[in-house]
Formats: sequence, structure tokens, C-alpha cells
Amino acid sequence: MQRQELEAYLSQYLDVARFRDYSPNGLQVEGRAYVDRIATGVTASVELLASAIDSGADAIIVHHGYFWRGDDARIVGMRRRRIAMLIEANVNLFAFHLPLDAHAQVGNNATLAAHLGFQVHGQFGDQNIGYYGEITSAPTLSELAERVERRLERKPLVVGDESRLVRRIAWCTGAAQSYIEEAVALGVDAFLTGEASEQTVHVARETGIAFISAGHHATERYGIHALGGHLAREFGLEHRFIDVPNPV
Ligand SMILES: [Zn+2]
Repeated sequence: MQRQELEAYLSQYLDVARFRDYSPNGLQVEGRAYVDRIATGVTASVELLASAIDSGADAIIVHHGYFWRGDDARIVGMRRRRIAMLIEANVNLFAFHLPLDAHAQVGNNATLAAHLGFQVHGQFGDQNIGYYGEITSAPTLSELAERVERRLERKPLVVGDESRLVRRIAWCTGAAQSYIEEAVALGVDAFLTGEASEQTVHVARETGIAFISAGHHATERYGIHALGGHLAREFGLEHRFIDVPNPV
């Protein structure tokens, strides 16, 4: 398909215009005009680019791209290396940040819920990126932590009474630890996100909400993978998801 056709489809499908974001959503680095093979991954690191280019991708689609607000705007050092790799290989880079967190079908939070067996009841937080819902089996916090560890293949950080039951839960992938007080206001039993800050632990202890930090990378692998699968089915593109493990 034409790159421009893919660009227009992604912008509409992910409802890009709805979001105020910290980096541009959509085409970030322009490559060849025709796209047959796509590669997806969480972050446009050099390792991901090398693997995607090696496998013959015409476009790379990621959750964490470039040009973040507050970044050094110069194209030097590691930024030059990354952008030079793309331009030399004539490969397109697309990035979708908040639109991919929020999307109801292929979004990070929707796909994480499916992965962990959470029922979705609604959305909350800044620009409705966070999700809340229910775990109908109401596991104990320690059973839930085991489930998270097994399904995400990473040991989570858990704060709270291990024997308490978790039925109502709010979650937001990535670095959404600052949403914990909004989760408290929702009246849920637990809040799950990717990262933790020192103060998050105190908020959890003092409000009584259980808290799980399950990994930024580990919680954000599923959305971009699902988006690639969706595009492959919709347009007959060849898709490869590339996982570059990250302990954070
Ligand atoms: Zn993220």
C-alpha cells in the first residue's frame, strides 16, 4: 500500500486528533513511498531499528518514537545514529504514544486487560487514557501478583496486604504512577501500572489502595503488537513484532 494511505488510516483509526501529546503522533521519519512489510516494537531503539531493517521492513511502527517535548532538538550523537539508520535504509518510522495507550481495541490498556483477565468498565485520568474494571474471580493480591508475573514474564513490585481481595481494579500501562490518586478516588481495590516512584509507595500505604508496578516495557508490549496484527489483516501487509527486552 502507499505510505500516505497507511498514514491516513492510522491517524483516523487511532483518533490521533483527539490527543494533546508530548511527541508527534504519526509519521516521524519519512522513508519509501510504498509499504508492504511492517515491523512493530515498543521503542525505536537502535537495536529495534537494526532488526527491523534487517528483516526488510518498509515501515517501523512504535509506541515510543522520537522528538519528545523537552528533548535536545539537535540531531547529534545517538539521535543522529538512529535517524541516519532510517534515512540510509529509506525506511519509514511511525510512532503513536497516547492514542495507542487509549485505543479500545488495540490499545495498551485494552490489550493488557485481555492478557490479565480484567473486565473493562470505563476509562479515567488525563485524556481518558487509564482504564478501570473488575476481576470477577476476585483473587487475593498475592494471587494477582503471581498471575501478573506468569503472564508478563516479569516479577512485579507489589505494595499492600497480600491476603486482601482485589475485585475492582484500575490500570494504566507505562509510567502512569502519578494516576494513583485518581485510582483512589475511583474507589478501586488496586492500581496497576508499569513504573513506580518513591512517593507512590506512600500514597498506597496511606490510602490503603493496593499497588502493582508491573514494568513499563512489560505492560506496553501488547498494544503495538496488536496494531501490527490489525494492519496485517486489514491490508495484507507482512508483519513482524520485534521484542527488545527491557527490565524497566
Ligand atoms: Zn510508555
